[in-house]
Amino acid sequence: MTPPTSPAEILARLVGFDSVSSRSNLAIIRWIGDYLAELGVPVETVAAPDGQPKANLWASIGPDRDGGIVLSGHTDVVPVEGQPWSSDPFTLRDGGDRWFGRGTSDMKGFIALCLALVPEMLKRALKTPLHFAFSYDEEIGCLGAPSLIAEIGKRFKQPRIAIIGEPTELKLGTRHKGCYSFTTTVTGKDGHSSQPERGLNAILAAAEVATELGRIYDRLRHDGPFDKSFDPPHGTLNLGRITGGTAINIIARTCSIDWDFRGVPGTGPDLVLKPLQAFIDEKLLPRLRATASEAAVETNPRVAVPPLIEEKDGAAEELMRLLTGQNDSFGMSFATEAGQFQAAGLSAIVCGPGSIRQAHQPDEFIMKEQLGLGEALLRRVIDWAAAN
Ligand SMILES: [Zn+2]
Repeated sequence: MTPPTSPAEILARLVGFDSVSSRSNLAIIRWIGDYLAELGVPVETVAAPDGQPKANLWASIGPDRDGGIVLSGHTDVVPVEGQPWSSDPFTLRDGGDRWFGRGTSDMKGFIALCLALVPEMLKRALKTPLHFAFSYDEEIGCLGAPSLIAEIGKRFKQPRIAIIGEPTELKLGTRHKGCYSFTTTVTGKDGHSSQPERGLNAILAAAEVATELGRIYDRLRHDGPFDKSFDPPHGTLNLGRITGGTAINIIARTCSIDWDFRGVPGTGPDLVLKPLQAFIDEKLLPRLRATASEAAVETNPRVAVPPLIEEKDGAAEELMRLLTGQNDSFGMSFATEAGQFQAAGLSAIVCGPGSIRQAHQPDEFIMKEQLGLGEALLRRVIDWAAAN
């Protein structure tokens, strides 16, 4: 293929792939891989370890050594079903001062800029290597990146800095909450609805679990721990879904609650799990077991995205302050892969073109000005990597 050259042309190709997280991302990864190979950049892929038809992509430009800079983006996007789009979400549409399309802001715009600048990266004799880390399944809990990050320091050289190009309007995101989700399942005993005492109703027991989670959240809101750089400044707990029972005339045997906890950096899900388990072990379960010996209440983890912890004198923040001239940083309300890179020993920061307000929306767009500013910033990254 003849590689497209302008960011807009590349963005049009990337948006054209329906890479909603529930589907395979192999087509977009293959296209990016072909594009890079055409330019002479070797590409490595890390297949989904669970056998799904998905993959991460890693590519390096510059010297073959540790200490480089990762430019990180996810190739998956959120669904469009049920959203009132004015045009096909998977066809890039020129809206004058902006580009419309799913993923334009979150975050195919950033990936398009990275790819468009490859010829410039190759022309310069980089002293610091630049790496691309393009993942899958970010939108459903940062599930894809861990298998890629696990190869850092093994198959891949150990970089020093990770820039996660999520849409921050190029402001410097240096911290975000962690996100942990769980399913708590109550098992009771079924029977005919005319004889409730012969069974154990799991829906009623799950309602007690739900009420207790509500109490725990009230305490979080009132007693903290707090971090004023976030809105809200405390950890949050949300009950997102409840599923239970079989039919109206059967005593419900099982009932599950899906819930998530988003804690300020420095806190983990134990803030909720511990008091919840104490309630279950000391109060709820003994009462349930007195009625039905098979009664059980189990909490299983689903997703765990570590927080991005503010770094003291972090290399990523120092570099981005230098390159952007910004003196301020901010705390993000959304979770990203930054905490995962940080946990692997990289200094991480979130900074990319576009706005999170446009992400996940119908008629998602990116302002052309943002793309231009993002391109200029990446050029400064290249300049820096050529000089340092
Ligand atoms: Zn994103």
